Amino acid sequence: MSGSFRIGSIAGIDIFIHVSWFIILVFLTFSLATGWFPSLYPGYSSSTYLLLGLISTLLLFVSVLLHELAHSFVARARGLPVKNITLFIFGGVSNIEQEPHSAETEFLMAFVGPLLSLVIGGLCYGALFLLRGTHSVAQPILGYLAVTNILLGIFNLLPGFPLDGGRVLRSIVWKITGNAYRATQVATIVGQVIAYLFIFTGIWLFFFSHDPFDGIWFGFIGWFLLNAAQSARTQATLETAFRGVTVAQVMNPNPMTVPANISLQRLVDEYFLPQGLRSALVMQGDQLAGLITLSDIRHVPREQWPQTPVGLTMIPTQRLHTVAPQQSLREALPLMTGQDVNQLPVVQDGRLVGILTRDAIMRALEVRRSLGEDRGKRAA
Ligand SMILES: [Zn+2]
Repeated sequence: MSGSFRIGSIAGIDIFIHVSWFIILVFLTFSLATGWFPSLYPGYSSSTYLLLGLISTLLLFVSVLLHELAHSFVARARGLPVKNITLFIFGGVSNIEQEPHSAETEFLMAFVGPLLSLVIGGLCYGALFLLRGTHSVAQPILGYLAVTNILLGIFNLLPGFPLDGGRVLRSIVWKITGNAYRATQVATIVGQVIAYLFIFTGIWLFFFSHDPFDGIWFGFIGWFLLNAAQSARTQATLETAFRGVTVAQVMNPNPMTVPANISLQRLVDEYFLPQGLRSALVMQGDQLAGLITLSDIRHVPREQWPQTPVGLTMIPTQRLHTVAPQQSLREALPLMTGQDVNQLPVVQDGRLVGILTRDAIMRALEVRRSLGEDRGKRAA
């Protein structure tokens, strides 16, 4: 996530904090110190309430971190590499680099997080019970952690993707049907339904409750869940449609190339305009030198086009991502979507053998869809 910075690492897993985390830290501290604590535990000074609010909020984040670590440790024990954990405004995310290979792994990985939150909540209730009648300052903190951890556990068990409960649902459907693609579809559709419920609840609360902020908060969570469910669905569709497909099968083996030493004016007049091109690969002799696109040309003032060689304006090969023809398309997709590029040169042993474009991928997807090939079974 951009806007995140590393605060340390636990058992080799880097822990990041996103800037939005500070918004919620300040907001929760103040709302606890001025609302929840004074009304439930009267008799302390306002600076004590502030301190209690801050400690409780920080411990809530420790709880969220423990929840994420539980996911990550199970993932690692099952052989899935864990990149990092990021804490942000809605809680935390574990960045696990691979999808689980079996329904059992997915179930364990997903279920352990909410289970740990429920256990922490239960332990806090237990400690609160032991302290009853003592008027200890630990009571407000324990009470808050008990309620929030149990809510955290229950919220995450809602059965829609991307929530943990959605993954639990996916693993169950996967186990029953033996079809991971079908399972993802079910979990993401339920995820979208839950997201809309949050959004509608948000709208209703905004107009009919005493505190419109509750409504905004619900709507915001719903919007976040909806985005996550939709992108998970698109990703799953693409990955399934392109299972076993290589770059060579989809690439254009005769890409348009231009020499590096011609001027921008010639490039536009003789290549781009007559053929309606938006980009071309640039060659220095028989070697790939770079890529030139319309937007690179637009950055040069028009009166300088006749004197400026293509080689000076292009993106040089060192700054380009390239793929190999035998690579799977599923590996190439994240390079395109993540970097927001429209084409990848295909290179074998330093030699240019083709170009992979977004358009070609979309066409291949359309063809596969109409042939009904996107319903393949997941390989065990
Ligand atoms: Zn979780």
